[in-house]
Amino acid sequence: MDRQKILNALKSYYPNFDEALVNKAIDFALKYHSNQLRESGEPYYYHLFEVAEIVIHMGMDSSTVITALLHDTLEDTDLTFEEIEKNFGLEIANLVFGVTKLSKIQFMSDNVRQAEDFRKFFVAVSEDIRVLVVKLADRLHNMRTIDFKPLEKRIRIALETSEIYAPLAERIGMQQIKVELQDIAFRILHPEIRQSIISRLESIFNKGNYQIDEIVSKIQEKLRESNILNAKIYGRKKTPYSIWMKMNQKNIGLEQIADIIAFRIIVNTAPECYQVLGVIHTKYQMVPDSFQDFISTPKNNGYKSLHTAVIGPLNQKIEIQIRTQDMHDVAELGVAAHWAYKQNYNAVAEGKKYRWIQELLSILSQANDSEEFLQNTKLAMYYNQVFCFTPKGKLVSLPKGATVIDFAYAVHSNLGNKCVSAKVNGRITPLRTVLNNGDQVEILTSKNQTPYPSWQKFVVTGKARSEIRKFINKKQKEEYIRLGRSIIENSLGTYNIKDITEALESACIFFQKQKVEDLFCAIGDGTLTTEEVLKQIKSKDKKSSAISLLNIQKSKDIDDKDAVPIKGLIPGMTIHFASCCYPIPGDKIVGVVHTGSGITVHISDCEMLNNFASMPNTILSLKWDKNKSKTTSVCRLKIILVNETGSLATLGNEIAKNNINIRNLKITNRTADFFEALVDLDVLNLEQIKSVISSLKVKTCIRDIERFKI
Ligand code: MN
Repeated sequence: MDRQKILNALKSYYPNFDEALVNKAIDFALKYHSNQLRESGEPYYYHLFEVAEIVIHMGMDSSTVITALLHDTLEDTDLTFEEIEKNFGLEIANLVFGVTKLSKIQFMSDNVRQAEDFRKFFVAVSEDIRVLVVKLADRLHNMRTIDFKPLEKRIRIALETSEIYAPLAERIGMQQIKVELQDIAFRILHPEIRQSIISRLESIFNKGNYQIDEIVSKIQEKLRESNILNAKIYGRKKTPYSIWMKMNQKNIGLEQIADIIAFRIIVNTAPECYQVLGVIHTKYQMVPDSFQDFISTPKNNGYKSLHTAVIGPLNQKIEIQIRTQDMHDVAELGVAAHWAYKQNYNAVAEGKKYRWIQELLSILSQANDSEEFLQNTKLAMYYNQVFCFTPKGKLVSLPKGATVIDFAYAVHSNLGNKCVSAKVNGRITPLRTVLNNGDQVEILTSKNQTPYPSWQKFVVTGKARSEIRKFINKKQKEEYIRLGRSIIENSLGTYNIKDITEALESACIFFQKQKVEDLFCAIGDGTLTTEEVLKQIKSKDKKSSAISLLNIQKSKDIDDKDAVPIKGLIPGMTIHFASCCYPIPGDKIVGVVHTGSGITVHISDCEMLNNFASMPNTILSLKWDKNKSKTTSVCRLKIILVNETGSLATLGNEIAKNNINIRNLKITNRTADFFEALVDLDVLNLEQIKSVISSLKVKTCIRDIERFKI
């Protein structure tokens, strides 16, 4: 390659290109790399000219060719970004900068950094696909000349090529580049295997059944007989690498791979493809399950072709691909054929600078044909990710299934906490929307917004989950404090303790709590019972002699027989209130007699009574004594609350309004939406509990409330 060849080649497909600018780029390449040599000993510019030739071969525009010529200047010479911009414009300066960024990423460095490397990679190429085209061309020439590098470097580069760059070339449809990259890498990584495949192939070909020319002319003849005159037929041996892949995938030996030769039939139109297929299938026996129609259903990278395998003219299995010239160009050049100058593609002017990467990313993430392909490549580890962009173009990588909320938290925790909805690709979308590769996401916030517990259901990232939980726990704690405070203040109010603060502080010390808030919190969340705390406070409050008196009146033990407001009991008999149904005055009750241990009082329809059905004599009918009903009984409620800020406080306040003590409270079950609490109340009678239940039922934060029973 020399200057004139470059100019002529460009002119051949791009007559109006800026010849002066390309000339200047060649001058720069020669000047700035003048004292540098390649490992091969050749002048450095050879490499630049070769890379330029590769992109010219792909039909790329002159900006890409200039980028190819300058791609190593920022890294290896004194030339600066500003000077490139001044001489060649911002577009080319950005392209060169992009390629330089790519070159700094070493994918195979170590596993921990790989995800980050891949992210950087996408940042670098997300601006313009031509960055990747030049990088692939650069890699191809480096692979062609890899033998001049030391062995260790050779292996690292070959691995990276085989696991990252070749798959990327395949994914953007650059079949030609992919095949060559893969084959050279194979030679470096598995020289013996490759050599043995080659010798085996030679011996198979020497046996005679694989005369490519002969097969071509026989097929040609059959097509002519059917009046198809313009078909071009090409035969080729499969590459050692593709044969090796097949051996690996199907776990078979070389002798079992029959289709080691493949043929391509190129015609003018898509209907002709099907005509040719008809002839082939009529004249030769098709290998079952080998037919695939990628014309009606193209591959994700745009590939179109008909694939079939038949028992060919010389009685051997052959693969045949049938396609038009356009389809062939796309198959060989891929992204270049799509987006090169031919279709007036101008990445920047189109204002769709992310379009190509969206397509690349969606190709990477398509499940069907990627899976098999990605199996053996390092790209598989990025397979479960989606890559999205902020409005400013910052790339955010997330695990598959991530939603708008995950995105918001990934950008900033405050953005997550305040988000109300989002625009995905310009459209207003709910927060639970699952993001796709390439989505551009703008988060809409409100300063009054706070995270909802229900968000936990549709986030997948640890960060979002922990931030939401952190926020909710903080809120929850505030609420427990409020609840605990209201329980205690409500209870202490009736005890007439002179110095509440002092009493609480001494209780803090006793229960080993740092602050009064911690004590309230422990009461609110049920770690400490109200009873325990009150008992402690009262015992310390020596100043108030009224306390002990009130204590007796207020908190009589429920099995104190004198206080039991039940008629017709034998004096001296011990009474227990059953903990399965918590009967209170007003309930219809029965007693179960336990020999030697007294009577247990149940509500008359308590299910536990079924256990005594076979012993009717043990069951006593009982009645409450209205005259003794000034003592309180414990009533247990099962309450389902909406899991949101303020619901526990509402519960506490409402119970306090009814002049009822909360004796104990226990959260028994919690989901993102609801939680279940068991609340023990000191109540006088059924009327009181009914009235508190109905006043609680109207609260929106209370989903369900009922008397507890087993
Ligand atoms: Mn280079």
